[in-house]
Amino acid sequence: MGFFDKVKELALKAKCGVGIHGGEYSKVSNGPACLYEKTCPDCFDHLTKHMHEYGEFSYRNHYNCTMSRHCAHCEHEDLKEKHQGFTDAGMDDFCRVKEKCIRCDFTKVKKESHSWIEVSRTDTDKTMSCIRCKKMDKQPLTRH
Ligand SMILES: [Zn+2]
Ligand SMILES: [Zn+2]
Ligand SMILES: [Zn+2]
Ligand SMILES: [Zn+2]
Repeated sequence: MGFFDKVKELALKAKCGVGIHGGEYSKVSNGPACLYEKTCPDCFDHLTKHMHEYGEFSYRNHYNCTMSRHCAHCEHEDLKEKHQGFTDAGMDDFCRVKEKCIRCDFTKVKKESHSWIEVSRTDTDKTMSCIRCKKMDKQPLTRH
């Protein structure tokens, strides 16, 4: 009997030790409505956590893509970056097709688009070169 009590005690300690405490969270009586607390019945730690209730995300300003939403109960602000949309920004000297965010000018590479021509060939592979950016690429010959 003593043995199993010991096992249980160790298990509880192990759980509390990695932050998994028992007990149920309930709202803090004299705090914001998003603040919860509990006291662990095993180690008697007092724990608090926020469960914010957010409104909708909206852009913070017109020149970048940072969106924010506020907790209805406290000052907490949640941020994320979400680009509004991308538009074609042409191709650079390295044949990278780029697109640009319509809101913040963030540019990303969509794909590479080379104009390959074959420049040499061996028994096993062929060497291609892009006539635009001079990039070389060796490709194995497919055997039939
Ligand atoms: Zn605990
Ligand atoms: Zn809150
Ligand atoms: Zn953007
Ligand atoms: Zn190219």
